[in-house]
Amino acid sequence: MRKPVMAGNWKMNCDNEEACKLACAVVAGMGDPGAAEVVLGVPATALTTVVGCTEKSPVGVAAQNMFWEESGAYTGEISAKMILSTGAQWVIIGHSERRGRFGKLEAGWTDAHVAYFGDSDVTVNAKTKKAIASGLKPIVCCGELLSERQAGKADAVVSAQVKAMLDGISAADAAKMVIAYEPVWAIGTGEVCDADEADRICGIVRQTVAEVVGQDVADGMRVLYGGSVKADNVEGLMAKPNIDGGLVGGASLKAEGFIPLIKAAAASVA
Ligand code: PEP
Repeated sequence: MRKPVMAGNWKMNCDNEEACKLACAVVAGMGDPGAAEVVLGVPATALTTVVGCTEKSPVGVAAQNMFWEESGAYTGEISAKMILSTGAQWVIIGHSERRGRFGKLEAGWTDAHVAYFGDSDVTVNAKTKKAIASGLKPIVCCGELLSERQAGKADAVVSAQVKAMLDGISAADAAKMVIAYEPVWAIGTGEVCDADEADRICGIVRQTVAEVVGQDVADGMRVLYGGSVKADNVEGLMAKPNIDGGLVGGASLKAEGFIPLIKAAAASVA
């Protein structure tokens, strides 16, 4: 039995006061999540605040990114050690917004313009290794662009991303990861991936994990779906055998949007 995970990704939203209000409202309204794990992915500036607001609750706190070095001349970056020093235990790695995989370009822009943060399969792998070595729990993202889906390449793109994130990672370490399948075209668009299709691709993620690090790890791996998850589609997604929870952007920004998702995750294993 895999423990479901319902993780919010607040992105670049919430100053400290707003973060505290939102985290407190989630804690106050969510009830007992049972076997489900609940994680709030908050801006780096709000990690300490949200850890404080959630400390007497089962809610875990995640950073939204990290750098793979311990310390040094890396202006603007934060390390795993710094994240852990706030009390947070999780980190989101390789979100498509950090990989620069937006799926659309402003007029006149090239891929280089939108790859703001430059994450690649190689850096995602380096960050994942460092997170695990440091004791952080990584939620590592993959997912295809609309153009890749239209070209019939979704399965191959996702499988290649999963192989790359696992490169050089032992089975024992891979067992500490959570993988989020997030089709880029479904993120923040309101266009949820059909539950059967999301389940099929989460199955490809699991099969790829099995090929690289073994069936046992694959069987235990939590694979989340992300992309316009909300109250009216969460139950259909959570009912699927290969979907073990959600990585949620927009609907996690209001307690009344996120609490039903926590309840659905809890109910899926009740
Ligand atoms: C995300 O930010 O990872 C995400 C899936 O966003 P949304 O739920 O808004 O589509």
